[in-house]
Amino acid sequence: MSTYQFQTEVAQLLHLIIHSLYSHKEIFLRELISNSSDALDKLKYLTYTDDAYRGISFDPRIDISFDKDAKTLSVSDTGIGMNQADLVENLGTIARSGTRAFVEQLTGTARKDANLIGQFGVGFYSSFMVAHKVVVTSRKAGEEAAWQWTSEGKGEYEITEAARETQGTTVTLFLNDEGTEFTNHWTIDRIIKKYSNHIPFAIHLHYEDSRWEGEGDNRKEIKEQKVEKINDGTALWKKSKSELKTEDYNEFYRVISHDSEDPMLHVHTVAEGTMDYTTLFYVPRKAPMDLYFADFKPGVKLYVKRVFITDDDRELMPTYLRFVRGIIDSEDLPLNVSREILQQNRTLAKIRTTSVKKLLGEFQKLSEDAEKYDAFYREFGRPLKEGLYSDYENREALMELVRFKSTAVDGYTGLAAYKGRMKPDQKAIYYITGEKEANLRQSPLIEMYREKGIEVLIADDELDDIVLGYVHTYKDTELKSVNRSDAAEDIKSEQDRAEEKTAEPLIARMKEILKDQVKDVKASTRLTGSPSCIVVDQSDPTVQMQGILKAMGRMDGGQVKPILEINPNHPIIKILETTTDEERVRDVSFILLEQAMLIEGVKLENPAEFVKRLNRIMEHAV
Ligand code: ADP
Repeated sequence: MSTYQFQTEVAQLLHLIIHSLYSHKEIFLRELISNSSDALDKLKYLTYTDDAYRGISFDPRIDISFDKDAKTLSVSDTGIGMNQADLVENLGTIARSGTRAFVEQLTGTARKDANLIGQFGVGFYSSFMVAHKVVVTSRKAGEEAAWQWTSEGKGEYEITEAARETQGTTVTLFLNDEGTEFTNHWTIDRIIKKYSNHIPFAIHLHYEDSRWEGEGDNRKEIKEQKVEKINDGTALWKKSKSELKTEDYNEFYRVISHDSEDPMLHVHTVAEGTMDYTTLFYVPRKAPMDLYFADFKPGVKLYVKRVFITDDDRELMPTYLRFVRGIIDSEDLPLNVSREILQQNRTLAKIRTTSVKKLLGEFQKLSEDAEKYDAFYREFGRPLKEGLYSDYENREALMELVRFKSTAVDGYTGLAAYKGRMKPDQKAIYYITGEKEANLRQSPLIEMYREKGIEVLIADDELDDIVLGYVHTYKDTELKSVNRSDAAEDIKSEQDRAEEKTAEPLIARMKEILKDQVKDVKASTRLTGSPSCIVVDQSDPTVQMQGILKAMGRMDGGQVKPILEINPNHPIIKILETTTDEERVRDVSFILLEQAMLIEGVKLENPAEFVKRLNRIMEHAV
C-alpha cells in the first residue's frame, strides 16, 4: 500500500467544491457518468484503430448500483480503465496550468461563486460532496493488474493492488449524511434522465424490487434484484431536429460542457451530399474560465461515425472561437487514422470552414436582438476581435460583429451603424485608442470632432489598437485613429484653414527646448479647449501599442517620441508667444508636453522635475 499527497491545488479544489456547490450536489452523478462515458469512448476508439485492442472483448456499458443499508453507491464502466500511474496522474493532480491558476484565483474573493466552479467542470472530485470516502477500483484495458484508489478527500489518498475481472473502472461512494438520499431508485432514475439521457452508452440501474404476495399469515414480501436500462442511449446529435426540444439540447450541453447554466444558443447542422457530417455547437452564457490561458481546453469533440476520436484537438475550430462547445461527427473520415493525420485532412478542413461561416452567421442573427447580442458580446467580443486579425477569410463577417463604445451613442455600436450616422462629407471612421473610457472621452484629441458633431469610436480595449490598425477600411471607408498626426487634417473646413494660426516663432523656440523629448512641435487644428496634446507620427505605434509591444518584449530602444501639438488660440500659448523670460518659456513648454502625456496615460519619466516646474509657475502666479 502506498500513501500519496494530493497536489496543493487539488486539495484547494476539493475544499472549494464541497463548500460552494452543496446546493447542486446531485451533479456528482452526472460527472461520474460523464467520466465513464469518456472512458468508454476512448476504448471504443482503440478497438477500431489499434491492433493491440482489436481482439479485446468489449461490451460498452455503465452500471449503477446502491446499497441503502451500507450507504454506498457505485458507478461502474467497462471503459479504458486506469493503472497505478494513471490514478496518480488523473485523480491526484490537475494537469492544466490554466485550471490550476483558476483554482488559485478562486481561493481568493470569488470563493463562493458556484457558477464559476460549475463553468470549468468539477469532475470526479464532486463525489466528495456526498461521500466521506471514495474508492476507485480500476483495471486498464490490455493490462492484468487492477488497482484500488481510496481517499477521504482530506489531503491524501492510498493506492493498493486489487482484483477486477474485466477492464474498466468502478467508483464506489461511501455516502455521508448529505448523500444518503441518493440510495433511492427513483432519485437516481430521475437524475440520470435529467442529466445523462443522451449519453451514447447504455446506463443500467441495479435495484431491489419488493412486492407483497399471499393472504393473511401467508402474506410475505418478495424481493427481487432487477436491472433496468435508464437512458435513451442514442447520440443526441443523430436525432432529427424535429424530435429534439430545447431542453434536450440543453441537457446534452450540460453533459459535454460541465456547465451548470443553460447555453446561450445551439446550432445543429446535418450536412448531406458531397460531404456527410453532423455538427452540434453551443455558445455558453459565460465565457469559459480558461478563455485567456495558453493551455485552454478546446470545447469541440470530434467523432467519426459516432466513434469518439478526440476532445483535445485545437484545430477543429479557429482559436478565436475557442469558447464554442459541441461536437463534429463525420461520416467520411476514416476511423483508423491517427490524430496527427486528421489535422491535415481536407474533409475536416472543409467541415471547419463551413462550421465557422455557420457560426458567424448565427452570431449575425443574434445581433438583430440588441439585448441578447449585448450579453453575448460582453462575454465573447474580445475573442471575435482576435478573429479580425487572425481570420482573413471571414474578416467581412467579423467586421459586422465587432462593437465599440462611441461618442454618439450609449453602450456599444457597430461599424455599420456608425457608417449610417456619418456626415455627408465625412471622409473616414474615426476612433481613439487608449486606456480608460472616461479619459478617452475627455481627451483633447477629440475636441474638434465633438465640436463638429463627428462621431468618434472609443476604443478602450488594448486589442482595439492592433485590430483597428490592421483592418484599415470598412466597406471602402477608411478607419482612422485620431491619435495619429494626420487624422485632424481631413475634418478641417475651408474656413478652418483660412483662420489657421501658426505661432511660428514660439514653435521654433519650443522645438529647440524639447528637441530630446519630441519628434516635432506643430500648431494644432484639432484643439479647441486644451492648450496642447500629443499624437504619434503616421507610421509609429500609438502609446497604447507601445505598451503592448513592451510587455511582449518586442520593443527595443526607448519610447517612440510623440509629436507635440499646441493650440495657437489658447490664452496660455498667446501669452507665451510674447514672453521673453527664457526660463519661464522653458518651464511652460515642458509642462505643456507633460500634461498632454499625462492625459494620454503616459507615465512621466521624471515626475519630480515636473512638480518642480509646476511649483515655479505657481509661485509666480499666486
Ligand atoms: P475531467 O473529466 O474533466 O478530465 P475529472 O477530475 O473528472 O476531470 O477526471 C480526471 C481524469 O481521471 C479524467 O480526465 C480521466 O483521465 C480519469 N478518469 C476519471 N474517471 C474515469 C473513469 N471512469 N475511467 C477512466 N478514467 C477516468
